[in-house]
Amino acid sequence: GLGAAMVTAVALRTVAQRNNMERLLAPLRLSRTDLQRVQALMRQEMERGLDRERNAESSLRMLPTYVCHTPDGTERGKFLALDLGGTNFRVLVVHVAEDNIDITNEIYVIPTAVMQGTGEALFNHIMECIMDFQMKQELMDQVLPLGFTFSFPCQQLGLDKAVLLNWTKGFSASGCVGQDVVQMLREAAQRKQHTALKVVAVVNDTVGTMMACGYHDPKCEIGLIVGTGTNTCYMEERAKVGTMDGDEGRMCINMEWGAFGDNGCLDDFFTSFDRLVDEKSINAGKQKFEKLISGMYLGEIVRQILLALVEEQVLFCGKSSHKLQNRDIFQTKFLSTIETPGLALVQVQGILSNLELDASYEDSVLVREVCQTVSLRAAHLCAAGMAAVVEKMRESRGLEQLTVTVGVDGTLYKMHPHFSRNLQQMLQELAPLCNVTFLQSEDGSGKGAALVAAVACRGADPSSP
Ligand code: BGC
Ligand code: MG
Repeated sequence: GLGAAMVTAVALRTVAQRNNMERLLAPLRLSRTDLQRVQALMRQEMERGLDRERNAESSLRMLPTYVCHTPDGTERGKFLALDLGGTNFRVLVVHVAEDNIDITNEIYVIPTAVMQGTGEALFNHIMECIMDFQMKQELMDQVLPLGFTFSFPCQQLGLDKAVLLNWTKGFSASGCVGQDVVQMLREAAQRKQHTALKVVAVVNDTVGTMMACGYHDPKCEIGLIVGTGTNTCYMEERAKVGTMDGDEGRMCINMEWGAFGDNGCLDDFFTSFDRLVDEKSINAGKQKFEKLISGMYLGEIVRQILLALVEEQVLFCGKSSHKLQNRDIFQTKFLSTIETPGLALVQVQGILSNLELDASYEDSVLVREVCQTVSLRAAHLCAAGMAAVVEKMRESRGLEQLTVTVGVDGTLYKMHPHFSRNLQQMLQELAPLCNVTFLQSEDGSGKGAALVAAVACRGADPSSP
């Protein structure tokens, strides 16, 4: 009868919807072969980036960091640290004592207008935060050595001299690219009549994280960030670093892997959704790998897919909302919530209804699947990159097997319910000769900057108590 016909119609519509959905999501599902190709490309770009003649062709900058050792546990002292370029800007005082690292920190907001205004205003703001912190902590009359975690690509000319190559993430302050960030900080200090800053080290957050974890685990020779942005550093044999003189020992290399693919080598893997996200970002064509992986972009990829699914009449009865038209309205933390095991679908409906979307039970199931597809791809791409890194280390060291620890930090890695497991499982499959342990850092940026500063101060009379 009519009832049966209607049921069939609904079922057919569901089958058609499913097929549409599968067709749209298919390009985001990477096969093992795809991931092996990404791994091979990463490896090739690493080699090129380290090559004296060919490094300009590589999308990986493979930057020397002037950090030659991970901590040995003898580091001591009291340090100021700055952490710029993650989710929050922070000022910290870090006390490295025997068996204990004590941290006090304050979070400061950097308004978007300051991130994207003039360099002078940005560094003035940073100085004001430092002074506020020193006042509150009664540190005004002490000149502590300062470690600056500055999480952007820099050409380092020494531990305390770092020229900004380009901004990433949400930053675009003018007049900074090509300038030494330590010098910019000093000039801001002068403008504020504050003369007592003693910057001894600038470190990338990956390096800080590796150092912080290295303090607890001597096998930690890789740092990974999967947060607002993504990046990796690792200890490379000096002999393999063609861009630098010297063959003895190792140096930590900041890969800047977020830029992997900026020369087009990943274009085959970019879907129409990824292209839209890239085109609408403030740095179109740049940080291509980062845009497939990190917290600043995953929510936006999901939003683009949802818009396409509405267009195809697969979701929300073909009805979008005004809110969903807004860039970045679908936050990456929604993926973490929506993918939480055992979460009731009404909670997914809740998130969607905050976006003025009228979601049925079936809609919620589909939205969850979209989130899973996007975050799984991110974790797998990250695994492919990491597989290239550990395999390169193993070969550089002439080992049959490598046992190594990765120090990790970043909101996405820490908050997402499946990211780390998906990453680790795929890494093991892609690099079976490497035994890799992941260690989450607690405040890697803060501790790490202090530890690098401590190493820099060793023998130079650190102002330890
Ligand atoms: C920056 C890196 C940084 C990473 C994680 C990227 O956008 O270029 O220097 O390590 O984000 O914060
Ligand atoms: Mg951070």
